[in-house]
Amino acid sequence: MVEIKGLEKFAPKDFPGFIAATVFLGRCNFKCPFCHNADLVLRPDSLPTFPMDYFLAFLDARKDWLEGVCITGGEPLVHDDLDVLLTVIKERNLLSKVDTNGSFPQKLDALIEKGLLDHVAMDMKTSFDKYPEAAGRPVDIEKINTSIAIIRNSGINYTFRTTAVPGLVDREDIEKISVALQGSKTFRIQQYMPHNTLDRDYENIKPYSADVLRDWVEIAKPHFVEVLLEGA
Ligand code: SF4
Repeated sequence: MVEIKGLEKFAPKDFPGFIAATVFLGRCNFKCPFCHNADLVLRPDSLPTFPMDYFLAFLDARKDWLEGVCITGGEPLVHDDLDVLLTVIKERNLLSKVDTNGSFPQKLDALIEKGLLDHVAMDMKTSFDKYPEAAGRPVDIEKINTSIAIIRNSGINYTFRTTAVPGLVDREDIEKISVALQGSKTFRIQQYMPHNTLDRDYENIKPYSADVLRDWVEIAKPHFVEVLLEGA
């Protein structure tokens, strides 16, 4: 059974519009230098595991008001038995959301086909040519593109999101990302927070100003139904 490495009992930002909790799973196939969850990615076995009984009791004790559960990481789709965790959530009539880096399109498709997902939030790390640098390893862009297509055609709610990391994402990248995602529903640009990063050098990177990010929102707007700015 997939191991739960963290539980945020009230996480309204992670599942916008719903009273939700967030579950953190360990491990990731990417090594993004700006990642804030270094322990989950690099040292998951050093973290305690929440017993499944505890998680089920948590859900059942909140059945009258909890509306959804967000599963994040790490990369949740690394785990082959993610469907088991999603099933216990859906059995309790809760909405489910998964955050993913988009590198496991077949697994994503299977979960959507089983009706286990209500919302997918997929990272667009940067424009495709800079992906290896942003992900900290070689990336099969075909898989990223396939995930984009699956999500857009799924019929479920979705968000694409980019963290505005100076040096990895610039104005031109936002233009390229917007074209690559042309016609998609929601695009979220997130301010970069230089804290507790996987590559400690990234803690010295100064985030873009709010004005820069507001300019990027205007660049992206013609390409999406809605463009949101978070943290700036
Ligand atoms: S930012 Fe996401 S995809 Fe990148 S290493 Fe961290 S958990 Fe993995």
